[in-house]
Order: sequence, then C-alpha cells, then structure tokens
Amino acid sequence: MKICTLSSGSKGNCTYIESGSTAVLIDQGLSLRELEKRAQGVGLDLSKVRMVAVTHEHTDHIKGVQAFCDKYGVKAFISPISAANAYAKYAVTSCELSVPFDGGISAGDMFLTPFRVHHDAAYTVGYQVEDGKKTLCIATDLGYVTASAGKRMCNADAVILESNHDKFMLEHGKYPYPLKVRIAGKNGHLSNDDAASVGVKLVQAGVKQLVLAHLSQDNNTPQTAYNTVISAMTAAHIRPGKDVAVTVASQFEPSLLTEII
Ligand SMILES: [Zn+2]
Ligand SMILES: [Zn+2]
Repeated sequence: MKICTLSSGSKGNCTYIESGSTAVLIDQGLSLRELEKRAQGVGLDLSKVRMVAVTHEHTDHIKGVQAFCDKYGVKAFISPISAANAYAKYAVTSCELSVPFDGGISAGDMFLTPFRVHHDAAYTVGYQVEDGKKTLCIATDLGYVTASAGKRMCNADAVILESNHDKFMLEHGKYPYPLKVRIAGKNGHLSNDDAASVGVKLVQAGVKQLVLAHLSQDNNTPQTAYNTVISAMTAAHIRPGKDVAVTVASQFEPSLLTEII
C-alpha cells in the first residue's frame, strides 16, 4: 500500500491511497484543478481512483468531492448524516450509501472501515484501510482519541494523525475566545501534545510510520509539531528514524508517494 498526502489543513484535505491497480481518495477538499496539478507533480494516476471516502462534511474535506466524482465517474462513500448535510451545502450527489455505513466498503484489494471520532460535524469518522498486507489509519479532525479509535490505530502499520495546534500559540494567538474553546475542546482538534502522547502509545504498540496532519496555519508550525512529537518519543526511549518514521503533511505541497513499511 502506498500513500500520498496531497493537502492537509483547514484550507483543504486530500489523501491518495493506492494498492495494486486501485486507489482511493480520503476527502477531497481541493479544487479539481489544484488536485490534478499536485497529483501530476508527484506522478499519481488519478484514473486509478475508485472512490472518495469522506470523513465529514466540513468544507475543507468535501468541497471538491462532486467535481472529482463527476469528472472521474466515481462515487463518494460518506455517512448518510454527513451526506444529508453535504447535499444541502455542496450538492454532493454521487454518494455510495452503503448500509450500514459503519460496515465499511471494498475498493479493489482495499477494504475501508470507518470509525467514529469526536468532532463538531454532524457525523465524523476516521478510516482504517487494509489491503491484506498493510493497514493504515487516518484520523485528522478529532477532539480526543477514544479507546475504540485508539485500538484501531494501535493495530495499524501507519497512522495519519492530527497534530493541529500548539497549545501556547492557540492560547496567546489572535483567534476569538469562543473559537479557541472550540478548537481545544473535546469536539475540536488534537494539539501537538495530544499527538505526541498518542504517538508514543502507537509506536509502543508497533506502528512504524506516523504522519502528523491537519496543522493549523495560525497556531502551529511544522517544526513545532515535529519537535513536540519527537521530544516525547525520545523521552519514552523511542528512536525516531529507527523505530518509527515521523513526517509532517503539508497544506501547500504534496508528499511523495510512499510505500508503507
Ligand atoms: Zn478539517
Ligand atoms: Zn472538521
């Protein structure tokens, strides 16, 4: 299984996952033009994409879904509750309403299982993606990690995990107080400290690859997120680079297409 984070953050999210001749997108929050430009830049073949699996109906995850589905002739896999919101807001009509949604869906060699996370959309999920060889979990908009979500992530080989904000930067930054409370709350976003403590547990459980994602442009920097997680790992006697590969997904640049180790 190979992964490429095409865009990550509040200006748009899209992750490309490939196994054999099939690929899926998790979210599509970019314009079609921007998505195609980025995909071409790192040599992705978007004609391999069989579906767009949507985590929730916030704009940064869904605004490009319909345009992509229309052009590439694929459907979106989305919870019925998110779809109801998405229909109204963005006219996402190409939905694969698998019932029950939580039972998951297959795409080529891959099987995608959604799992509930706490966030302030109508219904938000992370995804576990398995291809019989490797398992990836992606969870990028969540206020905290529940026991069940943590268990899924611990069983993965690679995890794309939110590391949204530095607590000090958020607290002392320019956001209005209610927004600060929302972001830091249980239905908001994971801080760097949260990602660090979860990251340590994941590596101790056997996760070999950790991608820090959905970083705030205003209340974080890639270096701050990376340093926070690496410091916590080092303190827990984990050797980053040997025991685990830690990278940071960018809002502006796609990552390389990377094989899960
Ligand atoms: Zn988001
Ligand atoms: Zn969100």
